[in-house]
Amino acid sequence: MHIQIQCCGVVLMLVLFYFYVRQKRIALETQKAFLVVFWASFLCIAFDIFSIIVIEYRHVLSEPFAKFIAKTYLITLLGVAISALGYMCVDIYAKRDEYWRDMRKYLVLEVLGVIGTYAAPLYYNYSPDGTEVLYTYGPSVYVTYGVALIFFVRIFYLMKKEKARINPRRREAVCIWLVAWIVASQIQFMYTNVLIVGYAGSIGIMVLYLKLENPETNLDRSTGLFNSGALYQYMKQLFAKEKDFAVLVILFENNAYQNVQLEKRDLVRMEIVEYLLKLPDALAFKNAEDEYFVLFAEPETAEAGVAEIRRRFQAGWGDGNASLVHPRWLYLPHADVVDQTENLLYLVRYIRQEEKEFSENDFFRIEKDSVDKMYRKREVEQLIIDAIENDRVEVFYQPIYSTSEQHITSAEALVRIRDRENKIVPPGVFIDTAEESGMILKLGELVFEKVCGFIRKHPLEQYGMHYIEVNLSVVQCAYENLAQDYINIMERYGVDPRYINLEITESASTNAKKTLLGNMENLMEYGVHFSLDDFGTGQSNLNYIVDMPVDIVKFDRSMTNSYFENGKAKYVMEAAIHMIHGMNLEIVSEGIETKEQYQTMEDLGISHIQGYYFSKPLPEDEFIAYLESKKAEQGA
Ligand code: C2E
Ligand code: MG
Ligand code: MG
Repeated sequence: MHIQIQCCGVVLMLVLFYFYVRQKRIALETQKAFLVVFWASFLCIAFDIFSIIVIEYRHVLSEPFAKFIAKTYLITLLGVAISALGYMCVDIYAKRDEYWRDMRKYLVLEVLGVIGTYAAPLYYNYSPDGTEVLYTYGPSVYVTYGVALIFFVRIFYLMKKEKARINPRRREAVCIWLVAWIVASQIQFMYTNVLIVGYAGSIGIMVLYLKLENPETNLDRSTGLFNSGALYQYMKQLFAKEKDFAVLVILFENNAYQNVQLEKRDLVRMEIVEYLLKLPDALAFKNAEDEYFVLFAEPETAEAGVAEIRRRFQAGWGDGNASLVHPRWLYLPHADVVDQTENLLYLVRYIRQEEKEFSENDFFRIEKDSVDKMYRKREVEQLIIDAIENDRVEVFYQPIYSTSEQHITSAEALVRIRDRENKIVPPGVFIDTAEESGMILKLGELVFEKVCGFIRKHPLEQYGMHYIEVNLSVVQCAYENLAQDYINIMERYGVDPRYINLEITESASTNAKKTLLGNMENLMEYGVHFSLDDFGTGQSNLNYIVDMPVDIVKFDRSMTNSYFENGKAKYVMEAAIHMIHGMNLEIVSEGIETKEQYQTMEDLGISHIQGYYFSKPLPEDEFIAYLESKKAEQGA
């Protein structure tokens, strides 16, 4: 009897099972599916051994019984095949009913396979001396293999088709498992006395365990709480089942432990963890950023649970409850105000960073309006990502008129995004978000490339223009590689740097200012010029002009407007003009809309005028048409 190898397989699986049940686990769908695969494989290997024994003693037992057991072994192979398919589908179908809808037809196939295997005849192949049964064959076996093959083909098909939805580790693990199986059955086919299929199956289960199902991978090493991976999967499951739940986030920020003596902190920390581990109606998780998430499956009782946890913190920890720890708290009473895990995690981040009320209080209850604000921000982020990826970033040009040369001598490049409905979105909607998320680096670069492309296509001099002004965000200015990146772009497009004027605004931090000055130095050495934008908005002051090597100062629209509306502002502006001219710098006055405004600015000696009086910012082709018409007028 060749059952030694199978027995090794059984031992291996029992050892695995021992480790599996010893670990702290969380009710995840993938683990349920894994247990089904595990037991199907275990039954398979057990029936493999059993059928070998029964066949050996078929004369003592009974011939039909031996065949029945041999066929039952074949059926357990079908069990493994369908459980493997079920396991593969865990990531694909978030909702249970979708899962069962798809699995139903395979269950029917499975039942047909079972009936066929039992109904069809099975034969023995004997050893040459006729004493030993080497293997079984016949229609019963072919039915089993045929049906199993359909399952395997389906699994490999899903692996390819649903690549994006299946956890890559799952794909890899299932692949190894099935390949081990197929290779083993080929070997067994060629060398009929090497019965290794069952053993290969158990090795496959070990691979699944190690790669995916080891419960330890769901635990945070330092605390033993469930980790962020488990949090993510668990919440995803709750959302998929459309089950509402409540979340309490406990944030231990820098000064949370300041009242606890240094040497006692670890002890207190562990005491808190112990407490969280034993919470009666809630599950505690900890992520890598030291945020503790407590999930209440029943939102109705969560309120009381949260109050109890906070009471426990107020009571103090350590010897005689002498140590007070002060975490900050975020409480989301109903997770169903968001629609998926990613957004819930994003919401926590959003509130930590941007909810003013939370920055002033230790406890914040997340209500619908915070969620709405978060969604709006997320929408804008999506809009930007979408625009960058699908080339929906556009540059409009607003002409700038020179009072001395009496024609358009430059233009400001102003970014626009076209949304999915082809509507133009102005920068006021997305610049702040792009800056906060860092996407402004990519966006700014794209704009600059488009401007360089424009200059190469339409040599400025043919329209009497000298340069294009391009806005730089403070985030870009504080980016170390900005100068080199922009120089590379100009070289790539073969654009002479004298056609470029970059607009900067005042940087908040001195550190950012240092980087900005470094960037400016490099770009100026290359031949680029600079303007100071937003003068008069409070973002720019006179000191800044002294420090910054700019050639032009741009008066913001609010400043020019207040000149006409406010008597005192007149004197401020006149003094500013005087000083700026004294420093030998030029001025661009923005937001000039009427002839009177234009005349006043000209009388004040301002050299450049930008505003709707001349033109609104125009798309590239309209801007060129505008320049052509001006050229024609001048020629006339
Ligand atoms: P900014 O650089 O001060 O640009 C001037 C803004 O004033 C433009 O708004 C322009 O359309 C508007 N404007 C010009 N003349 C008039 C006028 O006569 N009346 C009125 N009511 N408005 C006028 P826009 O294009 O919406 O840009 C707003 C701001 O967005 C810009 O202010 C700039 O800070 C930022 N921005 C635009 N494009 C970019 C870009 O490519 N990169 C970066 N970082 N920021 C940009
Ligand atoms: Mg500007
Ligand atoms: Mg401006």
